[in-house]
Amino acid sequence: MIKPGAVHNKHIGHILSKIEEAGFTIAAIKTTRLSLEDAAEFYAEHKDKPFYQELIEFMSSGPIIAMVLLKENAVEDFRKLIGATDPAKAAEGTIRKLFATSKSHNAVHGSDSDASAERESAFFFSRREFLRSDEVIASMEY
Ligand code: ATP
Ligand code: MG
Repeated sequence: MIKPGAVHNKHIGHILSKIEEAGFTIAAIKTTRLSLEDAAEFYAEHKDKPFYQELIEFMSSGPIIAMVLLKENAVEDFRKLIGATDPAKAAEGTIRKLFATSKSHNAVHGSDSDASAERESAFFFSRREFLRSDEVIASMEY
């Protein structure tokens, strides 16, 4: 997901370029906006953390870009591409180093496991809205 701050700052194009250059295939993409309740559900795992209220208010503060990305080893490779949660600690060249403005306004979200990726894909998209991996392979052979 591209978070509200990065959408507001007009970084969508730059971030999509980094994602494609890193070898990911965008299997589904949309602009949408989370209600406070949506954000609370999406980040439910953090509901007892001190930053939860700030997090869900920020995530519902403006439009976001939701995506389903395909790649071998996608979860781990995407987290490498985005960098550490806190941009001050993110490696040079990572998306958060380049586009995040703080730990809470950190430009992008990445799923933390294949199971989370499944759940989060279903949160945003119906099955008819994204390519299956065999369709992506067919498109690569095009
Ligand atoms: P994300 O789940 O958004 O990809 P992450 O997996 O790197 O980020 P998490 O620990 O899952 O980090 O935290 C979720 C989000 O909550 C972070 O991206 C960040 O925006 C916010 N967050 C995490 N820790 C803090 C903190 N100490 N202070 C403020 N915001 C925080
Ligand atoms: Mg996380």
